[in-house]
Amino acid sequence: MNTGIQIQNISKTYGDVSALRDVSLEISEGELFGIIGPDGAGKSTLFRILATLLLPGSGQISIFGLDVVDDYKQVRSILGYMPGRFSLYQDLTVEENINLFASLFDTTVEEQYELIKEIYSQIEPFKNRRAGQLSGGMKQKLALSCALVHKPKLLILDEPTTGVDPVSRKEFWVMLARLKKWGITMIVSTPYMDEAILCDRVALIQDSRIMKIDKPESIVSEFSDHLFGIKSSNKHQLLIDLRTYEGSKSAFAFGSEVHYTHHNRLDTADLRAYLEKMGHSEIEIYDTKPTIEDCFMDLMQEKNG
Ligand code: ADP
Ligand code: MG
Repeated sequence: MNTGIQIQNISKTYGDVSALRDVSLEISEGELFGIIGPDGAGKSTLFRILATLLLPGSGQISIFGLDVVDDYKQVRSILGYMPGRFSLYQDLTVEENINLFASLFDTTVEEQYELIKEIYSQIEPFKNRRAGQLSGGMKQKLALSCALVHKPKLLILDEPTTGVDPVSRKEFWVMLARLKKWGITMIVSTPYMDEAILCDRVALIQDSRIMKIDKPESIVSEFSDHLFGIKSSNKHQLLIDLRTYEGSKSAFAFGSEVHYTHHNRLDTADLRAYLEKMGHSEIEIYDTKPTIEDCFMDLMQEKNG
C-alpha cells in the first residue's frame, strides 16, 4: 500500500516525561502538512521518529509503504530532514555544505540543479562564504537546499522559520509552496500559529497530544463565538481588565488590539462603561473576524480550562 504517511498510535516517553501520547495522523502524498504547537509540545520528537533517528515507544509509522523502524535504511534514502537550527556545518562554505549533502546521497548539485535552483540560486552568489557567516534567512535557504539536494519524496522541516525575520519567514513559505509542483510531500512544524494558514492541512499539538487536524479554512469556519476587537489607550491594562470583566470568556492580545469573547450576549454599552470606570480612554469596541490564531487559542484554552 502506498498511501502517503500513516502515523498510528505513536507514544514516546523520556524517563517519566511524556513527549507524545497516542498520536495518529495520515498525510497524503504531495500534501504540505503543518504541525503547529508551542515549545515542548512534542513536535521535534515526532519528527525525529519520522526521520528514523529515534525509536517510537509504541505505535507504527508507514512512509510510502515503508516501515519507519524495519525499513529505516530505505526510508532515509527518500527523506530530507531539516532539524531546526544546527543542520549546517558552520565552518564549511555554502558550496562545501551543499556538495557534502549531495555526496552523502551519491548525487551532485549539477544533477539536481533543476529542483534546487530557485532556492539555491539566491545564495549561490555567496557560495564561498562560511555557513556560520550567513544571515538567518540565508542559512535557512542553504539548509533547505541541502535537505532537497537528493530529491526526497518526503521533506521534514522542524521549525524552519523560528528565529527568522518576518520577511524571510514569508519568503520561506513561498519557496515551500513552489516545491509542491515537484510532488514532494512536506511536513513542517512551527510555533507561529499564523503560518498554519499556508498549509494544506494542519495538526495542532499541545502537551504531547494532537488537539485538532483539519484544513485551516475549516478550522476558521468552525469558530462559533462572537468575536470583538477592543482597543484603548492602555493595552496592557485593557487585557487584564477584560479578563476580569464579569462574563468574560477569553481575551488575547492581538497586534494593537485585544480579541475578546463573552459567555453570553455582550452589551457593548455596559462594557464601555466598565472600561471607562477602570480608567481607560480612546475605547473602541467593534466586531472582528476570527483568524486561525483565534481558533487555536480557543482550542488550547478549552482543553486547559
Ligand atoms: P517541541 O519540539 O514541540 O518543542 P519536543 O519534542 O522537543 O517538543 O519535546 C517534547 C517533550 O519532551 C518536552 O517536555 C521536552 O522537554 C521533552 N524532551 C525532548 N527531548 C528530550 C530528551 N532528549 N530527554 C528528555 N526529555 C526530552
Ligand atoms: Mg522542537
